[in-house]
Amino acid sequence: MSTVQRPPSAAEALLADGTIAVIRPLEPEDRAAALDLHAVRMSEASRRMRFFGASRRAPQLAADRLCGPPRPGFLALGAWVADELVGEVDYEAETGHEDTAELALSVADAWQHRGVGTLLIEHLVHAARERGVHAIEADTLAGNLAVHRVFSDLGLPVHRRFDQGEIRVRVALDEGDEHYREAVDQRGRAADVASLTALLRPRSVAVIGASRRPGSVGRTVLLKIRQGGFNGPVWAVNPHAESVAGEPAHPSVADLPGVPDLAVVAVPPAAVVGAAQECGRAGVRALVVLTSGLDAATARQLIHACRHFSMRLVGPNSLGIAQTDRPVRLDAEFGGAFPLPGTAGVAAQSGGVGIALMERLAWLGIGVSSFVSLGDKYDVSGNDLLRWWESDGRTDLALLHLESFGNPRAFARTARRVTRKLPVLTVDAGRSAAGRRGAASHTAAAATPTVTREALFRQAGVTAARSIAELVETAALLHSQPLPGTRGTVAVVSNAGGIGILAADACTEVGLSVPTLPAGLAAELLALLPVGASATNPVDTTAAADPVELRRCVDALVRSNAVDALLVCLVPTALAVNAEQDPVRALLDAPARRKIPVAAVMISQEVPVRYLTGADGGLLPVYADSGAAARAFAHARDRARWLAEPTGPEAQAADTDPEAARRLADEFLAAHPAGGWLDPAAAAQLLEHYGLPLTTSLRAQDEHTAVVSARSLRRIGHDGKVALKAYWPGQVHKSAAGAVRTGLQRDGEVRTVYREFTERFGDRMAGVVVQPMAAPGLELLAGVVKDHVFGPLVVLGLGGTATDVLDDRSTRLAPLTERDLTTMVTDLRSAPLLLGRPGVPPVDLPAVRRVLAALSHLATELPQLAEADLNPLIAGPDGLLCVDARIRLEPLPVFDPYLRRLRRPPNTDATKER
Ligand code: ADP
Ligand code: MG
Repeated sequence: MSTVQRPPSAAEALLADGTIAVIRPLEPEDRAAALDLHAVRMSEASRRMRFFGASRRAPQLAADRLCGPPRPGFLALGAWVADELVGEVDYEAETGHEDTAELALSVADAWQHRGVGTLLIEHLVHAARERGVHAIEADTLAGNLAVHRVFSDLGLPVHRRFDQGEIRVRVALDEGDEHYREAVDQRGRAADVASLTALLRPRSVAVIGASRRPGSVGRTVLLKIRQGGFNGPVWAVNPHAESVAGEPAHPSVADLPGVPDLAVVAVPPAAVVGAAQECGRAGVRALVVLTSGLDAATARQLIHACRHFSMRLVGPNSLGIAQTDRPVRLDAEFGGAFPLPGTAGVAAQSGGVGIALMERLAWLGIGVSSFVSLGDKYDVSGNDLLRWWESDGRTDLALLHLESFGNPRAFARTARRVTRKLPVLTVDAGRSAAGRRGAASHTAAAATPTVTREALFRQAGVTAARSIAELVETAALLHSQPLPGTRGTVAVVSNAGGIGILAADACTEVGLSVPTLPAGLAAELLALLPVGASATNPVDTTAAADPVELRRCVDALVRSNAVDALLVCLVPTALAVNAEQDPVRALLDAPARRKIPVAAVMISQEVPVRYLTGADGGLLPVYADSGAAARAFAHARDRARWLAEPTGPEAQAADTDPEAARRLADEFLAAHPAGGWLDPAAAAQLLEHYGLPLTTSLRAQDEHTAVVSARSLRRIGHDGKVALKAYWPGQVHKSAAGAVRTGLQRDGEVRTVYREFTERFGDRMAGVVVQPMAAPGLELLAGVVKDHVFGPLVVLGLGGTATDVLDDRSTRLAPLTERDLTTMVTDLRSAPLLLGRPGVPPVDLPAVRRVLAALSHLATELPQLAEADLNPLIAGPDGLLCVDARIRLEPLPVFDPYLRRLRRPPNTDATKER
């Protein structure tokens, strides 16, 4: 660690009150600001706390120390708000003791208690860890309560030693990571919600660019805000008009009678940055930019203005936002009608999808708590909205439409928590290659392959529908019905046998089961129903069943606890002569109905889904198509399962040596700066550092050594046999090239194969690898692939020759939880091969779990790992052994997904982070 490392790049992040600060290393040019901080912005008392005395020269010396040329073992980070240095933290390690660094922190008096110190330390901890520092220490005065609070709230283990009025604080950076992440996350959440208040609960609003022209966007929004009954002043800003829609227009934001919390910007692209700066200078806290078509330079300037002046930004290219919460009642969008007040949170990247969602929810009568058209998502993203809904005290259903993920790992973390509290539904957009192309050009964000996104949604408990229709149909069920049990059993009841059979098929097709009813229950039902009815499942009541009989039947089914859900399919019959006798209405009155989810299907219905409201206000979803109802049930069952199974703690791996692995990677990348495949020996070593079970491999460069190696390995080989593999650097599929020969027993065989190899591969061949034969077993594959947006994915599947043919894999984003270790196995189509069947013992499942956990740790702890492919792992009842492992490393700047920072839109920053 003796070299000067690349300084961390600048990052923007939120202070506790939602103010945006820039955190970046101090440089020689910052000397004046550092001097100002210590000499002017800190009081005598603060200086005494900081410097343990009141030496006049302390500020000068501090400024010199902080802003000198870069030197090994030293790092100083400054926090800037609108070009003012509001705080600074630094560490310094003694030469030869680089694993422990001395920390010092200064915060301007006016900025204390706003989270500056904590945020700075978080960023310093991140940088220190990256540089191999294991602990930071600080001497503090016992009376320096502010600093002590910062340390104790940090979330890392803090050890204190008292010494005559001074306290030596030691913070261990290697321990308590989960706890620390949780603490960081909680601070991030609080800051996020604080910063979004001006956006979603503004006290006053300005519309900039409200023109006189009827039908113009700005004017429409202005009118809608007024008509929506916004509870606060609404001002129009337009330098070219005296009045807009009968209201006085003001020439600029600075001329307004007050400072608006929120500004809606509807000016032409060329005027957006100017408007944003004007808002910033006036003290506006949030912008919704409706303008679209900003070029990259304008986009950069817009983001810069927002960050500089601490404004959260929705858009550009947004249709606006709406908030139905009383007393706010803000309708600042130009898409649809004012949403019904309610409890569903809606956010959509595409405005059109957002409006469609709102319209369909309105048909159903589902009200909305807040609606945000995210547009190009330069700042406020789905993640922010999830956090808002989680804590707004109203939202109980979240509907998200996302085409891209800025920071999927942050999304996964947030969603995983929020979905425990409320259902989060999304349309899985961009599944097809064509769809992805559309999505990518839409936002210039990286397109995300299906597998990865599916893994993300599954791990986070997000309900992913395949279309807007399916999303709304599922929302209709989740909004009105209790969750089903986790078994996924459904009783289908119909008054027309054929319809019931189709519904049963639809249920089975989506993975629900339609079990035969217990004999006692069947008898009970038959006794209730007209002659000719059948009470297997589906239950056919016959067309002769009247509403009373139907209701009794439903009641009996629900009370029996025989099934998790009930689907009632009805065709109108001549028996229902008036509304009271409508058989569907009869369902509403079934007293037991609230115990399990019930849905009706009326194939004659024109809308895909609607609600029937009972006398008690209870809702019954009625679908036009039994397939839609079945899909909604399946989603509800998945959610019930998600809630029933705790995600569990992060999967633990024993016997790992991350440090040795990092050293190996550093050495390899020093020799191969562009990265590449490790040779078999290095790959074996790396896997060994994580306790991964690789078979013994010996390299031999000539025939004689090959024979000798084979002799020594035969003893441990299955049936006394060995395998021989020709080796050359960069080889991909060995067996396809004829470079693998297995089951060799005698010296002569080894010799012959060696000669064959040399003949076939010539100079290309750089020797052979000799391995003992593994005992036969089930060939699995396990590995890691890195997605540059989502981070590393851990993969488990069928291996060996079956890999490409069957393509049976389960994938999860790292880090895996204990639960992932289980579901990765059970999710495989070939799970029965692993779990055992009568007469066939299971494979060594604990060993499979250990491999997955180790890979998860390797993937998260070694960010240079680009690809790891263990194929095959040969699994038997009491063992698991890898006979072929390939590992690729690549140089990567460490990007810590847990570090608190605001996202950077992909197309606005030339030095964009990876
Ligand atoms: P590649 O995947 O590059 O073609 P492998 O080293 O995986 O080469 O070998 C191909 C196949 O040969 C494996 O899937 C496995 O069935 C078999 N095999 C290879 N090495 C051994 C071994 N040591 N013991 C048992 N079988 C082996
Ligand atoms: Mg292989």
